[in-house]
Amino acid sequence: MTITLTFLGAGSAFTTAAYYQSNLLLTADNGRHMLIDCGSDIRFSLAEWSLGHEEAHAAIQALYVSHLHSDHIGGLEWLAFKSYFSPGMERPTLFLVEELADRLWENALRGGLESIEEKQMGLSDYFAPEIVTPGQPFYWENICLTPFRTVHVNNPQYPMYSYGLVIQERGKEEAFIFTADTILHPELLQLFEQWVPRTRAIFQDCETTAVPSGVHAHYTELRTLPLPLRRKMWLYHYNPHPPYHPEEEGFLGFVRKGQHFRLG
Ligand SMILES: [Zn+2]
Repeated sequence: MTITLTFLGAGSAFTTAAYYQSNLLLTADNGRHMLIDCGSDIRFSLAEWSLGHEEAHAAIQALYVSHLHSDHIGGLEWLAFKSYFSPGMERPTLFLVEELADRLWENALRGGLESIEEKQMGLSDYFAPEIVTPGQPFYWENICLTPFRTVHVNNPQYPMYSYGLVIQERGKEEAFIFTADTILHPELLQLFEQWVPRTRAIFQDCETTAVPSGVHAHYTELRTLPLPLRRKMWLYHYNPHPPYHPEEEGFLGFVRKGQHFRLG
C-alpha cells in the first residue's frame, strides 16, 4: 500500500519548461491518478510525465483545485474538453471547497466551456464536483486528504485564500503536508506544529525572487524557521535559477520537476 506524489512541475506562475508550474499528481495504490491543480502548463507537463502520450489526459480520474490563479486552473478548459469528447471516458471527480466552486465556473471557466454545438453546459457536465470542507478529511481510493485554508493574497477587502492538503494513507498516521500557494502566517505555523510529529515531509511554497511579491512565503523568511521544521521541508513553486542552496541551511532541498515521493 503506497501513495506516490509526483511533481509534474515545481516552478512558479512565470516559470519555464525546465521547471513547469507546480501541479502535482497523486497516485493511489491501485494506479489511479488525482491531479492536484491543473495550470496552463499541464498539457506539456502531463505529456512529459507520460513520455509524450498524446492522450495523457485519460490518466486523470480525479482532481483537486487549491485556488483560482491560472498556474493552478489554467489547464482546466483543456482537460474538460479533452475528457468530454473522449469516448468512454468518465467525468473526472473534481474536489474543491465551496468557496471556490461557483467562482471557478462563473469567473474562470464559463466563457470557454458553456457552449458546445448541441447544448448549454455547466461545470457538472464536464466534471463530477465534490465539495470538501477545510479541516474535515475526505477520502479517495486508499488516500485520506484534509484541506486547510491558507492566506495567499493578504488584501484586507478582497483576501485570496488558498487550500493546502494534509495527505495520508487511509488509517495511517504519517502525513505529507502540501501548503499550496501561501504567505507564511501564524495559522500555518500552528498547523505545522500540530502535524509535525506525524509529518514525513512538508512541501512548502517558496518564492526566490530578488524582490518578494508578498503573496508567497519567501526563501529569506523560510530560512528563519526553526531547524526541526526546515529539516522536514521540501521547497517548491520557486523561480527559475534560484540563487540559494537550501540543503546547506537545513532544508531537504528544492523539488525538481518530475521528482516523486512515496508514503506508506
Ligand atoms: Zn497563486
